[in-house]
Parts: sequence; C-alpha cells; structure tokens
Amino acid sequence: MSTSALADFTAPADDAVPSESHDDLGSALAAVLQADQRLSIALRAERAIVHEFNLETGERYITATCPELETWCRGVSLSDSVDYQDQPQVQSAYDSCAGEGEPFRIQYRLNRDDGNETWVEAVGERLDGPGGKRVCMVIRDITDRRRQHERIETLAFRDSLTGLPNRAAFQRAFDEAANSADMTGEKFGLIMVDVDYFKDVNDTLGHDAGDALLKSLARMMMSAFRASDTVARLGGDEFAVILRNLHGEDDMTRPIQVLQGLLRTPVEYNGQSFSISASIGAALHADRDDEPTHVLKNADIALYKAKYDGRNRAVVFQPTMRSDVEQRVELLRDIRAAIGQGEFVLFYQPVIDVSAGTVASFEALMRWNHPEQGILPPAAFMEAFEDHDLSLQLGEVAFDTALKQMRQWMDEGLEFGRVAINISSAQFRTGRLAEDIAAKLKQWNVPADRLTIEVTENVYMGWGSDVVGSTVRELHDAGVMIALDDFGTGYASLANLRQFPIDRLKIDKSFVQNADDDAIVRAVINIGASLGMKVVAEGVEKLEQLDALSRYGCDQVQGYHFARPMPAADVAGYLKGFKG
Ligand code: C2E
Ligand code: CA
Ligand code: CA
Repeated sequence: MSTSALADFTAPADDAVPSESHDDLGSALAAVLQADQRLSIALRAERAIVHEFNLETGERYITATCPELETWCRGVSLSDSVDYQDQPQVQSAYDSCAGEGEPFRIQYRLNRDDGNETWVEAVGERLDGPGGKRVCMVIRDITDRRRQHERIETLAFRDSLTGLPNRAAFQRAFDEAANSADMTGEKFGLIMVDVDYFKDVNDTLGHDAGDALLKSLARMMMSAFRASDTVARLGGDEFAVILRNLHGEDDMTRPIQVLQGLLRTPVEYNGQSFSISASIGAALHADRDDEPTHVLKNADIALYKAKYDGRNRAVVFQPTMRSDVEQRVELLRDIRAAIGQGEFVLFYQPVIDVSAGTVASFEALMRWNHPEQGILPPAAFMEAFEDHDLSLQLGEVAFDTALKQMRQWMDEGLEFGRVAINISSAQFRTGRLAEDIAAKLKQWNVPADRLTIEVTENVYMGWGSDVVGSTVRELHDAGVMIALDDFGTGYASLANLRQFPIDRLKIDKSFVQNADDDAIVRAVINIGASLGMKVVAEGVEKLEQLDALSRYGCDQVQGYHFARPMPAADVAGYLKGFKG
C-alpha cells in the first residue's frame, strides 16, 4: 500500500493553496485542487475517509481526513480492519463490486484491538477510469448514530423490567411471521403465557415480589425457547412467544414442556421461596388458506381453556374449542347478571352428631334460582367458582345470606348449632379473608363460634400458604371452626396440614360411598382421632354406611340418608321433626 499517494493527495487539500502559484498552474489543475479542497472539507466534517483499492496494481489509497478511521482501516487485508462478525458481509459486498461492478452500502464494525466498538458505513462503487479499475468507497463513522438508534430501539421496543421485546416488538415480529406465512406457506406458532393469580402475588407479597416473579419467568422463557423465537412481554403478567419455521405442533409442545419443567422450581425472593404457575395457550398456523391473524384469537381461546381447566397447564388450540369457550363466556356473563339479580341462594344440609343423635350444624350450599330452569346446583355454575372475580362475588353472597339467616334464626330462638360456609381459594388469596369475615360477623351480630368455614386441602398448597396459614390461624383464634373439606382427594400431605389449626376432617363422599374404600375411611377416622380432630363423613345415603361409620368411631355424618340440602324456610320444620 502506498502512503505517499495519500500524502500527495491530501497535502494540497489540507494547506491553503498559495495564491502566487496560480499563475504557474494551468487553470485545469487549479480546478482539480479546489475540488480536492472541497472534498476534503466535506470528508472531515463527516469524519469520513475515502478508501480505494486499485484492482490492477493492488495499490491502496486512504485520505487523511479522519485520523481514527485511517488508523483502523489501514490493515493490509480485509480481516485486519473488519470485525470478524461482519467479515462475510463485507467480503461478499467487496467481491461483487470488484467482480461485477455492483455498488454497495454496508454497515460493519471495525476490528479494533483497543476494545472500542466502532461502527462504520461504507458506500462503495467500482470506478473504471484513467487510473485503472478501482473499488472506491467512502467510509464514515456512524457509531454515535448507531448508539442513538439502539437507544431509541430499546426505548420503543423493549420492556424495561425484563429486557424482553415489548408489545410493539411482538407486533412487528408477528407481522413478519404472518407475511412470511402468506408468501411462503411457512408454519409458525404462537404461545401465550399468563401467570396464575399474579394480582394476588402483587397484592399480598408486594410489587417487588411481583417484579421478581416476572423477571424469573422471563429468564425461564428465554432458556426454554430458541434464540430465534421471539419471547415478548405484552404487559402485566402476559407473555407471548412467536416460533417460526415449524414442522408441526410438536415443535411447540416440546419447548412448552421445558418451560413447565422450569416453572416447577420455586422462585427465591427476599429469603422466601414461592412457586410460580402459569397458564399456557398455544396455536399453530399451518393452513395456508387460513388467515394468519386467526392464530392470535386461537391462542387466546387455548389460553382461556387452560385457565378454565384449572390453570397451571398448557392447552394447544383445537377448532372444537371455539364453541366451548363461547358458551362459557356466555355462561359467565349470565352468572354475573344473576348475581346482580339476587338469584343465588343458599340451601342448608344438616350434619348429625352420631353419638348424641342431634343436629350439630348445617352446611350452606349454594343454588342458582334460575328464572327459567329452576333451582340449579353448583355443578351448573362451577365455572363461577373458578373465575377470580365471580368467586369473590359469590363468596360475598354466601356470607351475607348465611349470616343474615343465622341472625334471624337466633332471633327466633331456633337451635341450629353452627352453619358451615364453603370458601373458594380465590377468597383466601385476597389475604383479607380473616378481616372480611370478622367485619361481616360484626355487621350481622353473629358470634364467631356459630360459624364454620370449609376449605379444601388444595387451598393449603401453593405459593400463598403463608397467607392461608395466617388467615386460618386468625379465624381459628377468633372462634371460627375450620373444616378440611373433601379430605383425601387433594394432594396435601398430613405433615403439611399439621401446621394449620384444623378442627375437622370431612371424608370425601367418594370414599364413604365406595365399600372398597372402607380401609381408607377407617384410617382417616383414626388419623383424625390421633390429631385431635373431629371427623365428619359426607355423602351418607344408606343405613349400612351409617352403621359402619358409627362402628369406626366417626363423630359426625351428613348425607341424603338424613336430608338433602333444603331451603332456609324448611329448616325450622326439619329441626322440629328431627328424631335422632
Ligand atoms: P361440597 O362442599 O363437598 O358439598 C357437599 C356436596 O355433596 C353438596 O353438593 C351436597 O349436596 C352433596 N351431598 C350431600 N349429601 C349427599 C349424599 O348423600 N349423596 C350425594 N350424592 N351427594 C350428597 P352440591 O350442593 O351440589 O355442591 C357441590 C360443591 O359445590 C360443594 O361440594 C362445594 O365444593 C361447592 N359449593 C357449594 N356451595 C358453595 C359455596 O357457597 N361456595 C363455594 N366456594 N363452593 C360451594
Ligand atoms: Ca363443603
Ligand atoms: Ca365435600
């Protein structure tokens, strides 16, 4: 390479052209020098250099218009001056310019051994002039522009909490996938991930805990999916993934399983560990005739179904789900309206004390007094107990109705014992259940020792067991009796349950009614006795079931053998006619 050529070229441009030499130079040369001056000032202002390779002589030529660039572009071969990541791109642009005369405009990083990243833009053309065939390019430092662009990109397209692409970036990636699907028939997948009960984590453990949870979920998602998949946070606790170039559903379900595996590891926060669970809905765009944007709605439907089926699960969209979901949405809407109309009422089923032969209490069971279909059991509106907001509303209805009724019975002097109210897990997760109940008892002027709450063992599991533990303890200390419902059907370990003040175990009716489960029934009664808890058997329909239960030492029984759940108005008559 020739540095003298460079010096020759730049010297007149850098210094003022002496005016007395004007006469000695032909006017043509003067014009060339002026042009050089102008070029030079433009290059310096732009912090650019001209870099030229003579394809015939192999000579190189660099202007001295930007000293830094000059230093780093001086390398003998291409690999000396271009960062290795960008070499293939630069090489191919250069080759087709030298070979076919193809002009180029490329951006690349310089190979700097001082560790500073420098981005340049090179605009090149092949010049076939008097000097021979040359590749001539203008190289410009664009590092600042590039950084600014990155900052803007970060602000506009990144979620600041997790660093993941945000909703705008998701939309852009989705549009690209949809376009490619339209043009090439590419199959792509969409996965929606929604953290279960995230609002409760925020409300009970605080926003910092919520943030920590979202960050760990983001990390888990990054490791479950390929680097080429777009993992985005759409906002709140909603995440989405776009998976490109899929062969089929398996390409989606495999990483989902990986994610589910990761979700099983608890998150540590502030010395506490809690578990995250998420509902996942997935849909594949595989049919070229289908509109790619349908996949958005389909993934939503699958997500809805995952939540509806009990959360903490993944569902892949199937066309049959469409109508299921629509029906359910309609049902929830009807239930919401029915709550407003006061159509939800309580029926009461007596619980009998075996040895005393008396009515010990009543369990309050909800019914929907439907204007057209009549009295409907919970099986017809189970969806509502699984919906966060509706289950809270129904919980209110249950407490208000039962306490008002109890007050009335007490005023009438009716000896009903206690009333048991069923609690859904959403009510626990608010973290306010103990206060809410205390306030309601006060409002209706009913003593706490007239109330029992029935809780299923699954409520005791999961991240919120601290909240559940303190709530249950507070209620118990206030005199509310705590019954563990459906005992034996959940997953709670006895060791786990011993931490909580449980007064009563209710053996699930499936064990009571199945003669083969006799051993289980006996075991539960013995466990209850040894832990100092009373045992209630539900679903007692036959005399022989009652006989067996009383032989095993079961304390209380409940079932159709004694009475079906009845309207409040029938309770007084029932008590009067009851013969133990
Ligand atoms: P659960 O708490 O296990 O209630 C006992 C269920 O067994 C009731 O069903 C009751 O009618 C039924 N049952 C009682 N004796 C017998 C019998 O001898 N044979 C048979 N086959 N069944 C018997 P129900 O009223 O349909 O309620 C179903 C479930 O709905 C309840 O199960 C409870 O989990 C839920 N539920 C009812 N009311 C409420 C409520 O106010 N709040 C909440 N969160 N859940 C409720
Ligand atoms: Ca119950
Ligand atoms: Ca039960």
